[in-house]
Amino acid sequence: MSPEPADFDIILAGGGLAGRSLAYFLGKQPGLDDARILLVDDSRRYHHRSIVYWYDGVLPLPLTPAASYTTLAVDTTAGLRTLSLDRHTLSLTSSQRIFHCLDQVIDADPRITRLDAHTARIRAHGDRVSVVLTDGRSFTAAHCFDSTAPPSGATPPLLMTGEIRRVRTAQESFDPSVATFMDFGPGAGEHPVRFHCLLPVSTREAFVETTRITRGDAPAMGWPFEAAAADYLRRTCGVSDFSTITVQRGAIPLGLHRPSSRGRHLYVGTASGIIKATTGYGFTRILHQAERVASSLAATGSPRSPRSSRRFHFYDKPVLRMWLHDPDSAVRFMRAAFASLDADLILDFLDERTTPLQERELLGSMPVRMLLRPRLWL
Ligand SMILES: Cc1cc2nc3c(=O)[nH]c(=O)nc-3n(C[C@H](O)[C@H](O)[C@H](O)COP(=O)(O)OP(=O)(O)OC[C@H]3O[C@@H](n4cnc5c(N)ncnc54)[C@H](O)[C@@H]3O)c2cc1C
Repeated sequence: MSPEPADFDIILAGGGLAGRSLAYFLGKQPGLDDARILLVDDSRRYHHRSIVYWYDGVLPLPLTPAASYTTLAVDTTAGLRTLSLDRHTLSLTSSQRIFHCLDQVIDADPRITRLDAHTARIRAHGDRVSVVLTDGRSFTAAHCFDSTAPPSGATPPLLMTGEIRRVRTAQESFDPSVATFMDFGPGAGEHPVRFHCLLPVSTREAFVETTRITRGDAPAMGWPFEAAAADYLRRTCGVSDFSTITVQRGAIPLGLHRPSSRGRHLYVGTASGIIKATTGYGFTRILHQAERVASSLAATGSPRSPRSSRRFHFYDKPVLRMWLHDPDSAVRFMRAAFASLDADLILDFLDERTTPLQERELLGSMPVRMLLRPRLWL
């Protein structure tokens, strides 16, 4: 076996969704024909999960979802309403499926070397960046894209702690054409905020997501998620008996400060603060980030990550504060957003793809004054 070369053009530290997506898009850049790319991922740290996303026909990946929906049941000020999507599809897939799709391209690319290893230290110095592994090996590169962890282990202000439970019922219990999105239920306003999503894959099988939003330093994994899911299924679907096929648990950091994109050690994915504060979702945004970074690196030699408009920072900041300090207002705000009855516009808004004019239309139907209270900003 020939020894690995110690020097690369690009090192990808972390090979979850962000690291693998970047490897995939780098591999598709004609301007990087001679690039030597190292992807280092500690596979023992990754727990596979189901991934929900929406797109409007431009997902830059040939991914076939496990289920997709064009009808959403959403929690509004007027109760649970069913809305049709015209331009989007809400889709359900799994990290296994996404990895399979990305790996087909990555593994066929002779420019990419993969290592199953753990990075211990990443340091930028001069025009190189060095990456040291826990097994003592070290590598250098012109750029390192890091999705292993946020800079110096920054604590996020909030965590979305949740459980995704795949359940099977004896009776026909679900409508597989309708997904329920962020149902706050009768406990709305309780501290901490809690909501459910229901994604049926057949009349007898569904994914039930139970999510709680807690302080960033207080993960709540010991909470009785199973009992909450059972209560939700009984209340909304009349299901009193179900078996659990799989359970995934995890915590998503919300409101992480976005580190500077300058220098040779750059953050991508969750570590770059890309997860949306209002939804906890990041998959499609990670794909666009990876696509943009790869194409700008190929075109200019310098990676440029898409930056969030300050407008969205303005919308997200008070919502984050409300999640934490004033759950009742946060839930009223989200319900009012969905009451506007244009679900496509809301999904665009949640993904930062609306124009100022569209935001005016949307915000016109929402209690915007709630966002302007000084205590949400200080
Ligand atoms: C339970 C759960 C459910 C989620 N559901 C959704 C969803 O439905 N939709 C959505 O859009 N988003 C969802 N998210 C958010 C989701 O995590 C992101 O969209 C996406 O996985 C983030 O990609 P990433 O590459 O930044 O992080 P990850 O995919 O977590 O990848 C990080 C990688 O770094 C590796 N690693 C860590 N430390 C080291 C180290 N020192 N050395 C080497 N490798 C290392 C890990 O093994 C992992 O492979 C969910 C998150 C969780 C936890």
